Amino acid sequence: MKIAIIGGGLAGTACAYVLKNAGHEPVIFEASDSLASGASGNKIGLYNPRFTAQKDKVAEFYSSAFFKALEVFEKAKSEIDWNPCGALHLINDEKKQKRFPKTVESWEWSDQDMHLVSATEASKISGIEIPNDALYLPRSGFVSPAKLCTYYAKDVDTQFNQKIENLEDLECDAIILACGMGAKHFYPELPIKPVRGQVTYVQSEGNLQNLKCTIGYGGYVAPSLNGVHCIGSTFQRWLDHSDLLDEDNDSNIQKCVQNLPVLDREYKITDQKAGIRTTSKDHMPIIGQIDQINGKIPVFISTAHGSHGILSSLAAANILEGLINNKENQIDSVVTVKHF
Ligand SMILES: Cc1cc2nc3c(=O)[nH]c(=O)nc-3n(C[C@H](O)[C@H](O)[C@H](O)COP(=O)(O)OP(=O)(O)OC[C@H]3O[C@@H](n4cnc5c(N)ncnc54)[C@H](O)[C@@H]3O)c2cc1C
Repeated sequence: MKIAIIGGGLAGTACAYVLKNAGHEPVIFEASDSLASGASGNKIGLYNPRFTAQKDKVAEFYSSAFFKALEVFEKAKSEIDWNPCGALHLINDEKKQKRFPKTVESWEWSDQDMHLVSATEASKISGIEIPNDALYLPRSGFVSPAKLCTYYAKDVDTQFNQKIENLEDLECDAIILACGMGAKHFYPELPIKPVRGQVTYVQSEGNLQNLKCTIGYGGYVAPSLNGVHCIGSTFQRWLDHSDLLDEDNDSNIQKCVQNLPVLDREYKITDQKAGIRTTSKDHMPIIGQIDQINGKIPVFISTAHGSHGILSSLAAANILEGLINNKENQIDSVVTVKHF
């Protein structure tokens, strides 16, 4: 099938990758002049599941997504700046104190993939002094989302500077909307909202140089890639622009040193990147068939990847490939697939 994919970020390129591997002919239409020009353009992105206390549908979705992503990262590793350095999620509030032990118990991941550690163990693992106990995912880490998009879209027909206005104009057998908030242009009733965010890149210096794994504390900090660390990220539900803001860099660094006092110092900011996340009310992605044009061309959607797009975009691509090929769902029978 010739499948028109609208959007050249993680959601669109992941679909192109999975569909091409399944024998289809995807074509990406991207409004800008490059891949990953929207939210997917970060140099460093952390891949972590959304943690829930129960083994519910959210847990099933993100567990499958996590292990599927590791398989792809293994194949792509020389091209995507993959660093499976491990991730510590600090237990720095009462909610996490209750939730994380339940996550470990109910999710039933192997000890090698997820367990709780004391603050002393966390300090040994991370190479810096950690003030809290933590949830530890030894195989988590970071990739470059921008490079992952390039990897996914390799050998895929990609048409740049093609802002699609009208779905009826596309000559194809199926359409996938993978254009973040842009999906509202076609379906204004879609229940999605923008949430602005900015990450800050700082030079590796002081104790930060010793950091060996990613650390989440509400914000996050990653080990160095080419002498630079990514500190993220702001969340602004009230903004929908991607202009850079100095106060966001201050806020990212401040939050980091509040949670990790050993990292307190003046940092040289080397770069920054702001983008718009597309979010849904229940914080889950919207994946499924949304329409049928002229009674014959199905329109699918993959959007609202929120803060976990690295994992959920690939899972969504597998789900859509299953729907397009009328297969049993490859990623469990998730209720995250919303049919309109
Ligand atoms: C600051 C920040 C930090 C983040 N950190 C992480 C992280 O550490 N880990 C993680 O997993 N996730 C992270 N995320 C979330 C992640 O980046 C997103 O979930 C993901 O990039 C969404 O991908 P997407 O393809 O849906 O959207 P986008 O990357 O925004 O892509 C949509 C594309 O569609 C194109 N488009 C729109 N309308 C049209 C049209 N009509 N015709 C043609 N093209 C069109 C746009 O130009 C754009 O390129 C972060 C997000 C932000 C903003």
